[in-house]
Amino acid sequence: MPELPEVETVMRGLDLTMTGKTIHQVELRRKNLRFPFPENFADDLEGQSVTGMKRRAKYIQVHLSSGNVLVSHLGMSGRFLINQAGTAGFHNEIPRNVAHDHVVITLNDGTLITYNDPRRFGYMLLVPETDLEHHPRFCDIGVEPLGNHLNGPFLNDAFRGRAASLKAALMDQRIVAGLGNIYVCEVLHMSRLSPERSAGSITTKSGAPGKRIAPLVAAIRDVLTRAIAAGGSSLKDFGHTDGSLGYFQHAFKVYDQAGKDCPRESCKGTIRRIVQNGRSTFYCPVCQK
Ligand SMILES: [Zn+2]
Repeated sequence: MPELPEVETVMRGLDLTMTGKTIHQVELRRKNLRFPFPENFADDLEGQSVTGMKRRAKYIQVHLSSGNVLVSHLGMSGRFLINQAGTAGFHNEIPRNVAHDHVVITLNDGTLITYNDPRRFGYMLLVPETDLEHHPRFCDIGVEPLGNHLNGPFLNDAFRGRAASLKAALMDQRIVAGLGNIYVCEVLHMSRLSPERSAGSITTKSGAPGKRIAPLVAAIRDVLTRAIAAGGSSLKDFGHTDGSLGYFQHAFKVYDQAGKDCPRESCKGTIRRIVQNGRSTFYCPVCQK
């Protein structure tokens, strides 16, 4: 499942490709993805120029000259493939079944952007820009993990008094947006915090962030920034050698590493897998307290 760094990478690739160009044609090969496409979806996109692009949580927001925003969520398996005008065509390292190419967007310069989604948990919406903040998909979403609003005092306030585990609190999208299972495991290992301790246990009553909060905030930024940088390096060739956006290989320190030695120097622990709220958690019981 694409997490925030993958979505950021996809957004940057689409931004490079689409912003400043006009959508010439939109071909919908079915009536729905996870949800039906909005009524007149293709008509409302055709002829519009792309004025800019943003990511919010795990949503890609494509701003259009009409004042509408094309909102795209990749779900479990959605990805965009770009066939830039003037290149030989798709040459994908990742095999794809063209039967799952559900949307094909042609830009005015001939570039083709294909949305492929085998499991079809992804979806697309069209929302007036002026309604975006209040839209049900966005009005309850927490702060961006890489934005200025995520800081020690904020997290101290948000976690104070919470009996939920630190893992669950970090995955609560109403507090911090876009943090998923993989990166929460990595963040907790980096900040030496046990996923099982309560979120409230790292806070102070005074509001001044406790000494365990600052390393946690720093780890969130560090882990995501490095993952995005890894995506960025996979991006430089997109459209030339691969054409595929959205998935790249990471080296995870604890995620999916059960039974392996803890990668932290001087730690003799072994990575353990437990289940919290139905999801696998990977952590080192020796250095994460
Ligand atoms: Zn360890």
